[in-house]
Amino acid sequence: MNAQTSLSSLTALEVGGPARNYVVAATEAEIITAVQAADAAGEPLLIIGGGSNLVISDDGFDGTVLKIASQGFVANSEDSCGGASVVVQAGHDWDDFVHQTVLHAWSGIEALSGIPGSAGATPVQNVGAYGCEVAQTIAAVRTWDREKNAVHTFTNYELNFGYRDSLLKQSTVDGSPRYVVLSVEFQLLLGRMSAPVKYAELARRLGVEAGKRANSLELRRTVLALRASKGMVLDPADRDTYSTGSFFTNPIVSAEVAAMLPDDAPRWPAGDLVKLSAAWLIEHAGFSKGWGLAGELSATAQSDAGNPPRASLSTKHTLAITNRGGARTEDILAIARQVRSGVERQFGITLVPEPVLVGCSL
Ligand SMILES: Cc1cc2nc3c(=O)[nH]c(=O)nc-3n(C[C@H](O)[C@H](O)[C@H](O)COP(=O)(O)OP(=O)(O)OC[C@H]3O[C@@H](n4cnc5c(N)ncnc54)[C@H](O)[C@@H]3O)c2cc1C
Repeated sequence: MNAQTSLSSLTALEVGGPARNYVVAATEAEIITAVQAADAAGEPLLIIGGGSNLVISDDGFDGTVLKIASQGFVANSEDSCGGASVVVQAGHDWDDFVHQTVLHAWSGIEALSGIPGSAGATPVQNVGAYGCEVAQTIAAVRTWDREKNAVHTFTNYELNFGYRDSLLKQSTVDGSPRYVVLSVEFQLLLGRMSAPVKYAELARRLGVEAGKRANSLELRRTVLALRASKGMVLDPADRDTYSTGSFFTNPIVSAEVAAMLPDDAPRWPAGDLVKLSAAWLIEHAGFSKGWGLAGELSATAQSDAGNPPRASLSTKHTLAITNRGGARTEDILAIARQVRSGVERQFGITLVPEPVLVGCSL
């Protein structure tokens, strides 16, 4: 335990005040013991994996912050009929796991290459990119149920997966989940070919028709290059990656609301509803890449008059809010509030934040 741990050192945004108690759990047994100890003491508990989807208050967290650091994966079965059933520990680095599945010729999650964070967090918001979501390949999630004080394993169906959503997220309050993910079981196909490539830009780059397969390793390399060009792969040398990835989800609205937008606003069917592009809305509400608050708009977001702001939209992507160096949580939130109210004013649509906000709000 270390009372001095600053949460800014544990998050991709590098913001957030101190943790009162900080505990690292490297095995499933250690995770359960630490959670039980905090719960028995009535101690507020924040679970943290890679810290890539968290915005934590400048005041820090007045309780125990538990870092999930369990490692490793194992194939429970592997045959040409049933494919590979692979269980990965919650604290294992997600991108390392994806890389290993490609090397083992297990197919299905290669399009999710380069997403930061831990494997155990992926079912929480049903991580997705390039037309792929973990909900498509997760077979089961083993959890610690804090309410029942017992292990509980969910099947895919029971997790109620939706766009950036799951039962695990729905039952999380202020970063404190009812169910702590211990491990995740993926059901993958065997072979060196990827799952069908659904995303048009990726298919074009790979030179395949949308809906066709590509070599998994080539797909992984292409996804990593595409993501890096948008500042979406963590890189200590690139300030555009000091973010939570997308700060807002793509809004899902009724057909009537979508019909009021200009014809060139991108839209996709989402059941009876319509999914819109948050990036397009932000850009067309007047916020360009690299936009930051200055001068009289926010004293907090600018270090000194004339100097670049401490926080701004990414210079590569309007959907990411970035720490340019020395930003505080309030700087990040000031940008988010301006963007959200600008989009509201222009289009009447309220953007919803994607990261988990702990001890703070928009
Ligand atoms: C540059 C960048 C690019 C990104 N690109 C994408 C993308 O393409 N698609 C996408 O979906 N996301 C993306 N993200 C967001 C983020 O990487 C994912 O949401 C990731 O799964 C978060 O993992 P983490 O371990 O860092 O979670 P954390 O940030 O540590 O935690 C996020 C939430 O999950 C909870 N949590 C973490 N571990 C557990 C556990 N074991 N049990 C229960 N709850 C837990 C936390 O309490 C918190 O509520 C991006 C982020 C960045 C910085």
